[in-house]
Amino acid sequence: MKTDFKKMPVGPDHSMEKKLAWAHRLFETYSTRMLSDDTISSLMKDYKESIRNNWNVMAESGVVDECTECAVHDGGSCCGSGIEHKFDVVNLLINLLLGVRLPSRPWDPAGCWFLGEKGCLIIARHVICVNFICRRLYDRISPENIRRVQRAMQEETERAFVLEEYIKGWLGTHG
Ligand code: SF4
Repeated sequence: MKTDFKKMPVGPDHSMEKKLAWAHRLFETYSTRMLSDDTISSLMKDYKESIRNNWNVMAESGVVDECTECAVHDGGSCCGSGIEHKFDVVNLLINLLLGVRLPSRPWDPAGCWFLGEKGCLIIARHVICVNFICRRLYDRISPENIRRVQRAMQEETERAFVLEEYIKGWLGTHG
């Protein structure tokens, strides 16, 4: 049966429950074919590499330590409730394709739906999660390391974009 993508929830007005239900339905229907598509496999491989590289660069440059210190001791949280509404169904589907188990409810009612006890629970984060560098980081991380982090962030978000667009096109022709 053809999927009626006109009914797919897009934008922040739709509930997370509805978007999750759509993502799971698309995953159940298409994941086997998607994961055996050479282009999707290759784009996912590149994307995963850039995510890994970004985390490595953030660790080496001190960003991970600063963020942990801020979250644990200074009450900072960049992952507040509502950010999850930025995610669309394709973002969620990509996480499922990457093997992520998406939570059916938020662990912390004041936090983002995808925030767990030890941090973010998903692999494919939204561009606003990936690209954000706060004042504290600009003040405490050297300019050279900020530039390294920015390059790694940019690569991750560019590869995410290419994969998302390809999957949207794939769904349009195979769905
Ligand atoms: S998706 Fe992850 S990184 Fe982004 S706000 Fe939610 S918990 Fe934080």
